[in-house]
Amino acid sequence: MLARFTPTWMIDATYDIAPKELKQLGIRVVLTDLDNTLIAWNNPYGTEELREWMTALARENIRLVVVSNNSHQRIKKAVASLQLPYISRALKPLSLGIRRALKQYQVEASEAVMVGDQLLTDVAAANGSGVKSILVRPILPSDAWTTKFNRFAEKFVMRAIRHQHPELNFRKDLMNERD
Ligand SMILES: [Mg+2]
Repeated sequence: MLARFTPTWMIDATYDIAPKELKQLGIRVVLTDLDNTLIAWNNPYGTEELREWMTALARENIRLVVVSNNSHQRIKKAVASLQLPYISRALKPLSLGIRRALKQYQVEASEAVMVGDQLLTDVAAANGSGVKSILVRPILPSDAWTTKFNRFAEKFVMRAIRHQHPELNFRKDLMNERD
């Protein structure tokens, strides 16, 4: 049960995930949650850090694809300035969106990684599809009530995961995969 919500890695921020390390791990596609993972929920334009990270990913020939539960219209507006491909209505914690992305970009689960700020949706969806996951700290606390509820439940799940995997902590690099 707990395994379903346990991330492969925990990294402080999305921008701390080194494209070179992803490359070494054989990752060809980075799937990412949108709100509070890639951009702040109140800033659809992204930051300089995000743009630099996107450039570094492209340099390693790693594709970045947004996998979000949001509607097509909402994501389109949010990523318009970033020119990113996306999968909408991903139905996380189900794995449908992730599987659709793998198929669309013709990669194996082992060649992709899912980045997200929520255990109960992003990490669960990744684990359900056999894709490795990176939990990041949310950019900003969200004001959405669904997120607030998830955060509350997440505290308990996180406490249990920490108990079972004391080695899992927020870090700056990927080269310390558990087990
Ligand atoms: Mg999020």
